[in-house]
Amino acid sequence: MVETARVVIIGGGAVGASALYHLALAGWTDCLLLERNELTAGSTWHAAGNVPTFSSSWSIMNMQRYSAGLYRGLGEAVGYPMNYHVTGSVRLGHTDERLREFRKVVGMGRYQGMDLAILSPGEIRDRYPFVETHDLTGALYDPHDGDIDPAQLTQALAAGARQLGARIERFRPVTGARREGGEWVLETPRGEVRCEYVVNAAGYYAARVGAMFGRKVPMMVMSHQYLLFDTIPELEVWSREQGRKLPLLRDVDSSYYLRQEKMGFNLGPYENPCRAHWVAPSDPMPEDFSFQLYPDDLERLEFHIADAMARVPLLEQARLQKVINGPIPYTPDGNPLIGPMPGVPNAFEACVFTFGICQAGGAGKVLAEWITQGGTEWDMWSCDPRRFSGFENPDYCVAKGMEVYGHEYAIHFPMARWPAAPDQKLSPVHDRVVAAGGQMAPYNGWERAEYYAAPGDDTAWAATQTFRRAGPWEARIRAECAAVRDGCGILDLPGFTRLRLVGPGARAHLASLTASRLPAPGRTGLLYFADARGRIVTEMTALPFSDEDIGVITAAVAQSHDADLLRRGLPEGVTLEDWSEAIHCFIVTGPQARAVLAPLTEGDLGLPWLSVQYQARVAGREVALVRVSFAGELGWEVHCDRADAPAIWDALTGAGAVPFGMKALNSLRIEKAYRAWKGDLSTDYSLLQGGLGRFIDWSHDFPGKAALAAERQQGPAKRFAVLTVDCADFDPPAMSNIWAGDRIVGEVTSAAWGYRVGACVALAMIAAGHAAPGTRLEVEVFGQRHAARVTGDGPLWDPPLGRCADALVGHEGDDRPSWHGARDPCRIFCRRGQSGHHQHLCAAPRPVPEIRPRPPVPRFL
Ligand SMILES: Cc1cc2nc3c(=O)[nH]c(=O)nc-3n(C[C@H](O)[C@H](O)[C@H](O)COP(=O)(O)OP(=O)(O)OC[C@H]3O[C@@H](n4cnc5c(N)ncnc54)[C@H](O)[C@@H]3O)c2cc1C
Repeated sequence: MVETARVVIIGGGAVGASALYHLALAGWTDCLLLERNELTAGSTWHAAGNVPTFSSSWSIMNMQRYSAGLYRGLGEAVGYPMNYHVTGSVRLGHTDERLREFRKVVGMGRYQGMDLAILSPGEIRDRYPFVETHDLTGALYDPHDGDIDPAQLTQALAAGARQLGARIERFRPVTGARREGGEWVLETPRGEVRCEYVVNAAGYYAARVGAMFGRKVPMMVMSHQYLLFDTIPELEVWSREQGRKLPLLRDVDSSYYLRQEKMGFNLGPYENPCRAHWVAPSDPMPEDFSFQLYPDDLERLEFHIADAMARVPLLEQARLQKVINGPIPYTPDGNPLIGPMPGVPNAFEACVFTFGICQAGGAGKVLAEWITQGGTEWDMWSCDPRRFSGFENPDYCVAKGMEVYGHEYAIHFPMARWPAAPDQKLSPVHDRVVAAGGQMAPYNGWERAEYYAAPGDDTAWAATQTFRRAGPWEARIRAECAAVRDGCGILDLPGFTRLRLVGPGARAHLASLTASRLPAPGRTGLLYFADARGRIVTEMTALPFSDEDIGVITAAVAQSHDADLLRRGLPEGVTLEDWSEAIHCFIVTGPQARAVLAPLTEGDLGLPWLSVQYQARVAGREVALVRVSFAGELGWEVHCDRADAPAIWDALTGAGAVPFGMKALNSLRIEKAYRAWKGDLSTDYSLLQGGLGRFIDWSHDFPGKAALAAERQQGPAKRFAVLTVDCADFDPPAMSNIWAGDRIVGEVTSAAWGYRVGACVALAMIAAGHAAPGTRLEVEVFGQRHAARVTGDGPLWDPPLGRCADALVGHEGDDRPSWHGARDPCRIFCRRGQSGHHQHLCAAPRPVPEIRPRPPVPRFL
């Protein structure tokens, strides 16, 4: 008899058990969980069991909020009572910037239906009488925070899954895996199991299990400790009088939590310096570490113990009873892996959890949705395994993991660059960019300039520790935007993802995946991809060389995600190639771009928007020229061989092109209402909500067509909109609430100061009834509401009259005049738009010059 199951989950910690429970809840009961030891034997058994909802990430907060709600009712639902104390928590703030972080989270919480609150220093003691407050600026109170017994939680989830018909086998390790006849065959000492889907939920063993599938899991393992203190009589008296426990206290600026444990305390620091384990050959990971701990290591916690005693002097009375030092896995960004296993069919990951107890509930839901529905209710890119692309070697994982752990509670400021493991992937002109003052930041590991500092500018870490727009960078970004507006800028852009579908049927394959119409060979155009519910999965720029050879260019961070999508259902004979490392790109843009390029190229600079010249030369080097610019000015992408890039950079900058960075590009694209992937474009919104309706080619079948057709009939509930916000000091962070009176009616998806229009500009998603141009709204920025006005759903900026022939072409009413908008030949004329700037409107057709014939082998696209 061959043993079978539809889904096999490898690993029986809190996360594996929750995945099993949620699959069973979804009606997928033919599921089997295999655990090498007893349930909870990994990290789960020794976890402290804190269940916060706090997160500065919308999706992680969603997941944790869901967990807390699930845990409240779980014991009763499955008949397995648990110790779950909802005590609330007090999170202390020592600085104004910390309070700003709290206010942002309070706003997100409010949108998610949670009543988090800011406490003034005077109010903190009402919630937590034993704390010293003299040096605090305030605190955040979360009434939903609490703690749960992790082993009981896991057993309850397991019991619930079993009751629904799912199976669990303990002491049955998976030792190998192979693909056979479109199924997975998993090897165990007690025989093989065949299954359709498999889930790696192996916690800190995830890399080992991943290797069975040929997958390198980007992770490392940290040692993490908490200290248990004996009964404190004064605390016992207070607790008995009050009939409750103290709320959990987090001193995030000193990096620890302090929780009442019975009538004593549990102190859990995230220390720096910290300690990684199992990273050196001298310290190999044991074959089996079930129910084991590392030796106590208190020396490095001394600061935190002293600090906690000063903060809550009651702690001084306590005797240390026990230390728990256990393994805790980290990815390079500290978020877990939940979703498709990159490049491996029918395989998923739900592993490498740093906060796996508070996230287990939500993670189980998300994982089950991935498997049963092919997508998740909430956009979960923050946890998608495909956000890593394979360059993350062990040294990188260790350096980043330690950095995240050592700054677990740190504030993530918009201009700060986390310094560990830099320079993973370098532009061929990296040295020139740095010499010109480039302040670098990684994009999928590729170093790009955020902006160019001038000599004497304060570029130290300390200067970046602010949410304020103003800073040493502001004058530089302003000047870079002005250079692009008035002259010619050059952006060094290493790391564009370049994929190529090659073989008979390539065009038909791509056409079957995208909601858009593919451009003809020799042209270029934007493609949008929807999921079955019509939601935005991704965006790619297509460059079909022929029907059997189609290039696509996408965001650097989309490398693994988009390859995964294109690989789906790949027909026999079609191959997917990744050219991302081989070719380099500069964006040369601004009204003087033609004048700068002209002496350096014999290419035809008169060709229109969207034209592609596969074989041109710049500075005597072969290039491809694509007539587009994400900055919204006249411009070309110059694609070239990496080896030729320095000469081209030297020639262009020598001819007057001014280097500009990603921050300026962000400002320029927001003024043009150009959306960015996973900021403005995500599975939280449908193509129609995102205002991308005109990119849909209804004449062919594509994923999500039925859902979008139904939505078209009804009219989208939300709409994309552009707002100006009267916010003098800050740009609204993503997911800032938008208010109409006393109702939240939408959220900001990205925002920046627009230097060309002289206003703070936000791209947003707003309830349909509030998205009309001219609507007055308010945007909540760090707790304060600022007046805002909907300007429409199109650009706030277009180049002024006189440059029209060089400008972006659009149709009246287009939200995003762009490459696709120019597909139809049109004549352009100008008028002064509402914003006071000129708009380009499409009137009668006019002939478009011939596009040059494509070469047999495109080298640079
Ligand atoms: C000291 C400490 C305190 C913590 N406190 C908290 C906290 O307060 N709140 C919080 O949210 N998180 C906390 N954590 C983190 C939390 O413990 C983990 O994130 C969580 O337990 C991870 O659960 P998991 O199910 O992903 O992994 P695990 O619990 O590690 O489970 C993985 C399972 O996979 C099994 N397995 C591995 N390989 C195989 C195989 N080949 N075949 C079959 N089975 C296999 C293992 O035996 C193990 O049982 C703490 C961690 C530590 C170290």
